[in-house]
Amino acid sequence: MPNLPKKEIDNEYAAAIVAPIEESGTPIDDPTGRIVDFKQVAQLQPKPLMDAVTETSEEPPGSGAPELSQHFTPRKPQILRTVATSASPGFKLSARSAAFLKKHYPDANAANWNDWRWQNRNRVRQLADLARMIDLSTDETAAIEKHKGALPVGITPYYASLLNRHDSLQGLRRTVVPVLGEYLQAAGENADPLGEDAHSPVPGLVHRYPDRVLLLVTNFCSVYCRYCTRARMVGSVGERSVKKADIELALAYIKDTPAIRDVLISGGDPLSLDDERLDYILGRLKQIPHVEFVRIGSKQPVVQPMRITPALVKILKKHSPVWMSLHFTHPDELTPEVAAACGRLADAGVPLGSQTVLLKGVNDDVPTMKALMHGLLKIRVKPYYLYQCDPISGSSHFRTSVSQGVELIRALRGHTSGYAVPTFVVDAPGGGGKIPISPDYVIGHENGDLLLRSYDGGIYRYPDPGQEPGQLEIKQ
Ligand code: SF4
Repeated sequence: MPNLPKKEIDNEYAAAIVAPIEESGTPIDDPTGRIVDFKQVAQLQPKPLMDAVTETSEEPPGSGAPELSQHFTPRKPQILRTVATSASPGFKLSARSAAFLKKHYPDANAANWNDWRWQNRNRVRQLADLARMIDLSTDETAAIEKHKGALPVGITPYYASLLNRHDSLQGLRRTVVPVLGEYLQAAGENADPLGEDAHSPVPGLVHRYPDRVLLLVTNFCSVYCRYCTRARMVGSVGERSVKKADIELALAYIKDTPAIRDVLISGGDPLSLDDERLDYILGRLKQIPHVEFVRIGSKQPVVQPMRITPALVKILKKHSPVWMSLHFTHPDELTPEVAAACGRLADAGVPLGSQTVLLKGVNDDVPTMKALMHGLLKIRVKPYYLYQCDPISGSSHFRTSVSQGVELIRALRGHTSGYAVPTFVVDAPGGGGKIPISPDYVIGHENGDLLLRSYDGGIYRYPDPGQEPGQLEIKQ
């Protein structure tokens, strides 16, 4: 098991697990990765739930969530539910998962594998653990050894099972295993290219567009993407951590700002919070009359599909309308488990869209992108945005030219279902927001007609109202 820092066990959490311990008589792992012993539980003094978690370590779940003791009272029934729902019933163990589990976690079983908290506790975070699973290149090894600070290595066992052991250039592997390119600073790159910090009226909240905000509820992700736009803060400790007081301040800001009708909950990964914390945040937002709907941005269904438990789905349904933007990168992510997770969300009435970052050598060719977009539609996820890779520090090895993205859209538009074509956007550095870029199908005006080029190169005329006959204006 990867080295996880030992933490002081708090009494709130101890209360939450005492019933199952009494039943089993054996120690039990807690969802934050701590090993809890029944004797220790009996000796604990009262202590707020979150204090031991938020500031000392990159640690799941609940970094920055509110102090639940203020909001939830009957403790015992809630406890039983918490423990009982951490596993995700109904997920069949694939042959791939079963073989990986047997080889790398011989003491665990299928129920452990399908328990998202087990997945969190057993994330691959150390060089030695990763080296047992894949043949690391010299470049990868040197990059991991050199790493300090935010954006650590973190890979769930489930996602690690998708990595190609022998091919360091495999798309998925490149997205989660660091290389030395991360330490190169190219021209125009910086730690906060979108200027989020400058548009943050209170910590943990970005208010760029008048009617919507970005609410950052945690800095934890169960898998860290090497091209993350928030590389400056995700997985960080200390002052970059999202704290419970920040969440309360952000909720108060939203409540006091009637123009806000749409809240995007992000992080880190919001679905890495436990059910109670998510329920709390969604409930608080639901109580604000001017908030019309909420979106959650998450990669959890992709890297930890077992997180989509019936209990979680019930919470999302309760706070409807909740939309989700899921972060997909490559068709290799479209496994039966991911299809089942998305199916549960879609069945619960959660509209699903995908967000994909265009990455050099990962998904920047037409067959890969088309396979991803087609595969998403099959699991009821609408391709939403294709992002030009943001100029975050150390990302030049991932960045394609913008014209590469335009050509990908040209290869999709008209050549496949319209639903399979995402909007290609550049998130303007400095805070200009998402600017859509698409191939230009307009040739110009001629004699009152609009001249258009079709997807297959044909030229067509459209009688455009308001254009004077005889006028000639051809775009170059
Ligand atoms: S899941 Fe999202 S927030 Fe987390 S590391 Fe990946 S891109 Fe960043």
